[in-house]
Amino acid sequence: MTNLNDLHHISESFSNSEKMPVLFLGHGSPMNAIEENQFVTGFREMAKTLPKPNAILCVSAHWFTQGTKVTAMEMPKTIHDFGGFPKELFEVQYPAKGNIALAKETKELLNPVFVELDEKWGLDHGAWSVIKHLYPNADIPVVQLSIDYTKPAQFHFELAQKLNLLRNKGILIIGSGNIVHNLSLVDFKNFNKDNYGFDWAIEARETINNYLLDGNFQPLIDYEKQPKAFQLAIPTPDHYLPLIYTLGLSQKGENLSLFNDKLVAGSLSMTSLKIG
Ligand code: ZN
Repeated sequence: MTNLNDLHHISESFSNSEKMPVLFLGHGSPMNAIEENQFVTGFREMAKTLPKPNAILCVSAHWFTQGTKVTAMEMPKTIHDFGGFPKELFEVQYPAKGNIALAKETKELLNPVFVELDEKWGLDHGAWSVIKHLYPNADIPVVQLSIDYTKPAQFHFELAQKLNLLRNKGILIIGSGNIVHNLSLVDFKNFNKDNYGFDWAIEARETINNYLLDGNFQPLIDYEKQPKAFQLAIPTPDHYLPLIYTLGLSQKGENLSLFNDKLVAGSLSMTSLKIG
């Protein structure tokens, strides 16, 4: 809950106090970082609708840690955390600054959950491969918040709620993952077939989208109790939990819209959300 004491602790250095939307971005293949395709266009078009943020706080599927960490360095390095892709992708640099004040404020807001100020990570591809399409000039500072893999979805939903105050300080909070994400079942031969999903992926996407659009988030938090299509869509929690952060940050009555809402290669979805 917001109180005056919390407000007092927030940095006065941010000028924009317009309430920021909150996003979930389906990042898909790392190649989306350098390809021109409908998803990249979707990210760019959505970005045009956003107020200019003071900074970004990104919860990426690719920073899955024991305990919660937040990046706290002046210049986060671009991490190429993948293998088997062309040299061109390894050459991408995204030189956005960090923001140590935001890292410290995030740590304070999440208290009493302990948050480690991390000086080793940087920006993984879950962050930079999508943020580069929103802000190609890398002129918005980016801080990453890790996902504690020892904790259930309900914990992450409630943790995100504690960050709501940042939205009023011009901070754009982005969850980056994929809602339907079963890498072991990817049909690589049909990677470029438009909106191609297996029956269970179509079912999972439709059911999840209905819950999202109805603002009925509890079944999404309780994803492990849902029918088989969910278990095939979410075989591991890493790419799904960033969505739970985004939902935790939504407030009653806010508009939720979907974009890039397509299936890829049978077992992946690029479905992305803007709330607010
Ligand atoms: Zn990923």
